[in-house]
Amino acid sequence: MKSLFLACAAAISAVAAPAFAAAAKGDVIIRHATVVDVEHARTVADQAVVLRGSDIVAVGDDKDIAAKWQAPRSVEGKGQYLIPGLWDMHVHFGGGPELIEENKALLPLYLAHGITTIRDCSGDLPEQVLAWRDEIAGGKLQGPQLFTSGAKIEGLKPVWKGTIEVGSQADVDAAFARLQRDRVDFVKITDSTLDPPLFLYAVARAKQLGLRSSGHIPMALTVQQAVDAGLSSIEHLDYAYKAGVKDEAAIAADFAAKRIDRAAANQRLDQGFDRDVAMAAYRRFAAQDMSVTPTLNGGRILAFLDRDTHADDAYLAYIGPKLRKTYDWRIERAAKATPAEIQARHERYARVAAVLPLLQQAGVTIIAGTDAGFLNSFNYPGIGLHDELGLFVENGLTPAQALSTATRSGPAWFGKLVRYGAVAEGKAADLVLLQKNPLQDIAATRAISTVILRGEVYDRAALDAMLDATRKQVAAWNAATKP
Ligand SMILES: [Zn+2]
Repeated sequence: MKSLFLACAAAISAVAAPAFAAAAKGDVIIRHATVVDVEHARTVADQAVVLRGSDIVAVGDDKDIAAKWQAPRSVEGKGQYLIPGLWDMHVHFGGGPELIEENKALLPLYLAHGITTIRDCSGDLPEQVLAWRDEIAGGKLQGPQLFTSGAKIEGLKPVWKGTIEVGSQADVDAAFARLQRDRVDFVKITDSTLDPPLFLYAVARAKQLGLRSSGHIPMALTVQQAVDAGLSSIEHLDYAYKAGVKDEAAIAADFAAKRIDRAAANQRLDQGFDRDVAMAAYRRFAAQDMSVTPTLNGGRILAFLDRDTHADDAYLAYIGPKLRKTYDWRIERAAKATPAEIQARHERYARVAAVLPLLQQAGVTIIAGTDAGFLNSFNYPGIGLHDELGLFVENGLTPAQALSTATRSGPAWFGKLVRYGAVAEGKAADLVLLQKNPLQDIAATRAISTVILRGEVYDRAALDAMLDATRKQVAAWNAATKP
């Protein structure tokens, strides 16, 4: 009897086994979603996406995928739009060691706003940020994937803290030895006191060592000199504007020879933009694979502090009191401006913003980055990236082009498009589910219903809980700092 039963069971399983074996196992299946193909600016309806661990393992028509794959967790994507996770390619952490906890509390703000990768462009807590990078990568700390420059390279006695000060080529070489020991993801070079020839030497050295570099270009150099030396990205649209000024080389030479001061140089730059000169420069950028991170929102906030003091911004409830205090520097500086200076600031912002569509037209890769973090007043981690994308569209990009700056440009810059920037098999399971179509209206990136980071699903309730926890933490800090 027993042997008969076994024989029957074997016969049944022999018939049934192939069907079960064909159902491959995933951890999560997203059903019926409209996948946004950012590269080709199109949508693909009724797709299923299977995640296993931190990988996307299958994407295809919902019916086919659901027949082939099983997963314990299912996410309903009907009527929703699935995009690759967003990248904010210009953020800062800093303000001193007593601000470490407040900086750490910014990490969930990025995640809650669909940002799955951030690029830290250096502050004054380089060791701390390097430690967070490794803790996040090791799954010990919740937060977006973090790339960092580590400490930035600067001249002697700079205005910035937490820098590696260099006064000679030997100093630059020593700086790179340290940065390589720190396994930095790229190099940031700024020019508050850095000697222009040393700036070029540092950029060239980075390139020799296979490190990407970005930074602030000295007034005494033309932007093209920095690009020719091997700079990998221009931070802030002002420098792209500068490259479009007809007399840029003469202004740089006059400034280098101390015939004019910075204010006079800026005045000549303000008046000297030439569309043809600019387009020729931008086509060279494109040919030399030079990307631009405009950080337009930061420029807009500072230019219009006279019209909007941001004192009543609801988002301030998510920013710790010591971080808010670092905003004062720029607020006080702006408050001292004369009406003529304010007017000039407004006009300058408009002139610089007008460069954006020219870069796109010339084929330059535009990278979305906010400049959010300490010091940069009211430039908010998380929501700021969505503001930046809105400004991109306002200033002439299509929603698809804007979306690409935040999903594909960052991976492209790091040479990681094989892993990021699309909803496709083999790519990272870093995804955002939106309630509206971002190719029709870029504001749809704000309508987030689910964020997936390294295969971990955060639904709206989980994201709201994350925001809530930050707000409560900040409220507790506020209460503790009241006299
Ligand atoms: Zn910055």
